[in-house]
Amino acid sequence: TPKIIGLTGGIGSGKSTVAKFIEEFGFPVYYSDDRAKTIVNDDEDLKIRIKALLGEKAYSTDGIYDRKFVAQKVFNNKDLLQQLNEIIHPAVRIDFENWVKKQTKYLIFKETALLFELKLNRQCYKSLLVTAEDNIRAKRVMDRDGKTYREVEAVMEKQMPEKDKIKLADYIIYNNTNLEDLKEQTEKIIFDIE
Ligand code: ATP
Repeated sequence: TPKIIGLTGGIGSGKSTVAKFIEEFGFPVYYSDDRAKTIVNDDEDLKIRIKALLGEKAYSTDGIYDRKFVAQKVFNNKDLLQQLNEIIHPAVRIDFENWVKKQTKYLIFKETALLFELKLNRQCYKSLLVTAEDNIRAKRVMDRDGKTYREVEAVMEKQMPEKDKIKLADYIIYNNTNLEDLKEQTEKIIFDIE
């Protein structure tokens, strides 16, 4: 069986960019958040349970998951968010397990924003954290998504502090400079993992 490396980082840290580099170096990446977005649209049982929890409006009339509606509904409601996660996370876990079975490389990566928060690192061989200064992350997300500083900050405040993630991570990429440096650091680490 392959070794699973958990790849994580806070908002705007650059974890998706690192994931793309990892794929360029020939290693497969499972994108947990992207897969979750697909699963909530494809899995009929999940749809029924999400509608029961959040209301019919969680899906548009043509059956597409309304992320905006759901985000607004759970943003300041911890209980509801937890219940939603209890529906979605097991489905993603099963999807991931099926994906792992199909892999042939000795090293595979699982990108997930909540690696440490959900203690998913315990199911990984090693963890790889991408981190950067808060102001740098904020600026990148503002440029990427057209968000305000305050909006990015609100998300950051809800995430585990970087200093806590740094303590938990096996490998750390400090993404404070440019993409060339980011790619070099990524290459060095993935070929160093034993
Ligand atoms: P999120 O959790 O918000 O999806 P992420 O951790 O996946 O964020 P990315 O999308 O990879 O982060 O990066 C955020 C933005 O910053 C992207 O537009 C990306 O192109 C840019 N970026 C990342 N790293 C660098 C860098 N070293 N130099 C310049 N731009 C960068």
